Amino acid sequence: MRDGAVRSVQVFLIRASDAAKGQPMRARVANRKGRSRQRRVVHRELLQIDGRSVEMSVKLNPRARRLIVKVHPTTGEVSVTAPSKRALDRAVEFARGERDWIARQLARVPSRVVLVPGVRIPFRGEDHLILRDADERGVTIDEDKSIIRVGGRAEHAPRRLQDFLKRRARLEVETRSFEFAARIGAKPRRVTVRDTASRWGSCSTTRSLSYSWRLILAPPFVLDYVVAHEVAHLREMNHGASFWRLVRELVGDVKRPQAWLRQHGVSLHRYAPR
Ligand SMILES: [Zn+2]
Repeated sequence: MRDGAVRSVQVFLIRASDAAKGQPMRARVANRKGRSRQRRVVHRELLQIDGRSVEMSVKLNPRARRLIVKVHPTTGEVSVTAPSKRALDRAVEFARGERDWIARQLARVPSRVVLVPGVRIPFRGEDHLILRDADERGVTIDEDKSIIRVGGRAEHAPRRLQDFLKRRARLEVETRSFEFAARIGAKPRRVTVRDTASRWGSCSTTRSLSYSWRLILAPPFVLDYVVAHEVAHLREMNHGASFWRLVRELVGDVKRPQAWLRQHGVSLHRYAPR
């Protein structure tokens, strides 16, 4: 099934076998379901990088035309892809030769933020401090003071906080989806939140809308744009002129939220790492 979707910018850092020396390439990789299934992880290799062992997936993809080394910009996952079984050894050799480049990309991967008392996280685009609250059992938020309080046992804090954020995200995207849909005479069948790496939202042909819970971390105008985008797909399952007219009818400007997602979208994956 083809979905309409707002894809997160999956700019993998890649290094291809025929790339000019010293010129790392950036490429967009559309991670469609059907395609990714064809990429088979054959085995894993350890690379020695800056005195530590880094695991690298060795993949086979008949569609690849070159040997490609990739570093995922948020997870730091390293992989190398070969077009054929015969080229597997050469692919691993190629990756070993690119160790310095891999090390430089890994140094740029943003640090991960585990949700524990003492750290700051964005909530609806505003920085909030997480504090322990020994008297309360659940999670409470004080948006005026920019504080999120978490109760219960300390070791359960990350799970409790993530559940809380997911609940808030679901409430928000559900409310907005039905509001926007009513304005353009449409009705979603179902609204869900997930933890997707490659898209912020999607609309299926069965009128099910799905969103990344991480949108609750972004400013409201960004969440609104993603919701308007998916809701507009209920009427127009394409990205034609009338589709964009509907989106603008719902949220006005689309350039600003799109630019925000391009610039900051990846950083939302730092929090509560998968
Ligand atoms: Zn779309």
